[in-house]
Amino acid sequence: MIKLAIVSPCYNEEAVLRDSSKELSALFDRLVMKGKIAEDSFVLYVNDGSGDRTWQIITELNRENARICGLDLAHNVGHQNAIMAGMMTARHGSDAVVTIDADLQDDLNAIEEMIDRHSEGADIVYGVKVSRQADSWSKRTSAQMFYRLLEYMGVKTVYNHADFRFMSKRALDALAEFPERNLYLRGMIPMIGFKTATVDDVISARLAGNSKYTLRKMLSLATDGITSFSTRPIEMIITAGAGMLVIAFCMLCYVIGSLLLGIYASGWASIMCSIWFIGAALTLSVGIVGTYIGKIYIEVKHRPLYIIKEQVGDGGKQEETGR
Ligand code: UDP
Ligand code: MG
Repeated sequence: MIKLAIVSPCYNEEAVLRDSSKELSALFDRLVMKGKIAEDSFVLYVNDGSGDRTWQIITELNRENARICGLDLAHNVGHQNAIMAGMMTARHGSDAVVTIDADLQDDLNAIEEMIDRHSEGADIVYGVKVSRQADSWSKRTSAQMFYRLLEYMGVKTVYNHADFRFMSKRALDALAEFPERNLYLRGMIPMIGFKTATVDDVISARLAGNSKYTLRKMLSLATDGITSFSTRPIEMIITAGAGMLVIAFCMLCYVIGSLLLGIYASGWASIMCSIWFIGAALTLSVGIVGTYIGKIYIEVKHRPLYIIKEQVGDGGKQEETGR
């Protein structure tokens, strides 16, 4: 029987927390009854610098039910870092952690299956979305495009899996060894290499409230996913540069040929097009290379991923620094 911790990041989730905690408590009761998890299993809500009453509600929930614990981050650090803060704290007080979004869009019944896969030997169990009907059309399409792009860039990733995941203590300890600042957990965790399994995750609509993933946050996650795991964009610049060189050489031959034949090489339009094209290609390339340099800059500063302000309940132990 394992002592399970459910880690759930919350950013302005006052509308869902009470319902979410009720459902998680009911799940715990069921799993304890079935003898699958220990009685002192707990939920760790990570308040990611919310501007609403989220933290207040978490502390109230803790007073009502000691199984509900909370971790208050000093400011908003984003979904990935908030999950990391929760996992790194909870691993010191549990045998395994399941991460799930606070809006409970994921399938709670899958958690029992995850525990079963773990008892069969898996250290990491991914929840894989089997139906995304509850997601909007734009969310589904952008997600599909993102997975395709990642695949093309050579990043190993679990298709249709989005941070609803079971990890044993052993896997979490291995994850703690990853020193990077730019977190893209869906790319990092497959690199750990223990035995993995997948379970179906039938997702539903948000309990309440709106999506906290703005377009900007999604784009930033996508760039992290690509640039933290692949240097293919840089290779693409080199290929494009080589292609442009060939074109330039052909044009040179054409110009010299026309001069030899005594034809004046006219063409204001073609010069304008070339200048704009090359200018755009150069700017884009500098931007891509700059993105990588920016990443190196963030990595070498080695700033903490998160800062913990407060903790309520017995939901694991804080580490000395935010890693
Ligand atoms: N979240 C977070 N920090 C952020 C943005 C989101 O901790 O800066 C949490 C949010 O509270 C939720 C989870 O991440 O529990 C997923 O966010 P959301 O449900 O809004 O995203 P979606 O499901 O629409 O992709
Ligand atoms: Mg959601």
